[in-house]
Amino acid sequence: MTGSKTSDDKPIYSISAAAKLLNISVHTLRMYEREGLIVPFKKESNQRSYSQGDIDRINCIRNEINASKISINGIRTIYSMIPCWDIVKCSKKERGKCASFNGSDSPCWTYDHSNNVCGTKNCRECIVYSQYSACCNVKELIKSLSK
Ligand code: SF4
Ligand code: SF4
Repeated sequence: MTGSKTSDDKPIYSISAAAKLLNISVHTLRMYEREGLIVPFKKESNQRSYSQGDIDRINCIRNEINASKISINGIRTIYSMIPCWDIVKCSKKERGKCASFNGSDSPCWTYDHSNNVCGTKNCRECIVYSQYSACCNVKELIKSLSK
């Protein structure tokens, strides 16, 4: 499930261009990042940029929030339940050091992992973020929870 990079993965939009495309404010886009809905590409200067895939992801999540009347907090909770340890197969020792594993209520990619194996990884390229938290999978999860 690693997949190769497509043109949709290329970070081509600045934060203001992305916000304009999404018809939201830069402040809201930053809030989505803080809440763990999105992991933007970061340049060395710490400037954010966004790909078409990022725009599609946010649009899809926003539609789902409106259609299912689920809050951002609800989406974040759903993301926090993705069993990254099982998917990535990190060791027991790594889990023991990991704040995300030990009582997380936020997605794994929102934590500081400088003391464990995830600290050297790029979450945007990790299947936990790119595949398991893809909007279509969140939709399925919401549907199954609301049955
Ligand atoms: S965030 Fe990384 S180290 Fe922590 S439990 Fe998940 S895969 Fe393991
Ligand atoms: S690399 Fe990032 S998204 Fe992947 S398991 Fe680790 S913290 Fe989560």
